[in-house]
Amino acid sequence: MITIFKKLTPNLYLNTIYELDVDKLKKKGINAIITDLDNTLVGWNDPNPDAKLVKWFDNLRNHGFKVAIVSNNSENRVAHFAKQVGLPFISKAQKPRRSPFKKALEILGSKKEETAVLGDQIFTDVLGGNRTGLFTILVIPINPKEFIGTRIVRQCEKIVLRYLVKKGRIPS
Ligand SMILES: [Mg+2]
Repeated sequence: MITIFKKLTPNLYLNTIYELDVDKLKKKGINAIITDLDNTLVGWNDPNPDAKLVKWFDNLRNHGFKVAIVSNNSENRVAHFAKQVGLPFISKAQKPRRSPFKKALEILGSKKEETAVLGDQIFTDVLGGNRTGLFTILVIPINPKEFIGTRIVRQCEKIVLRYLVKKGRIPS
């Protein structure tokens, strides 16, 4: 497979974060998660976590996972959300650059081979995570209402996803 598609291919593809099998991750030696915010944890610009999400984070922590939020969205938006779930965060992250992921590894005190990236976008979360050498997990975006720039990128994502499914890299 040509390199660019390799970098766009997630290691794992889930419908939602709630399908994440924490025991399986632990068996892979993963104990830290860098998660995206918009359309991964909640809908785009949805300010607050619901009870189910708070419980999900509690469960991760109970399993010994270190978690940080890394988002390209504004500081106000990300800080407000992160405070409510008690997590460190990086806003205006400029994913798919490697620097925000590296910074998150520093904050968490974890190595790249023990860290997973969780996100809904191939061209930011998956590409950035793969470039940094992390285990990448793609989820289906929560809410179709999105930033205009993202909507354009989604069209390109569809082409990549179709290619990956055709090549058997991810399940259809
Ligand atoms: Mg997102």
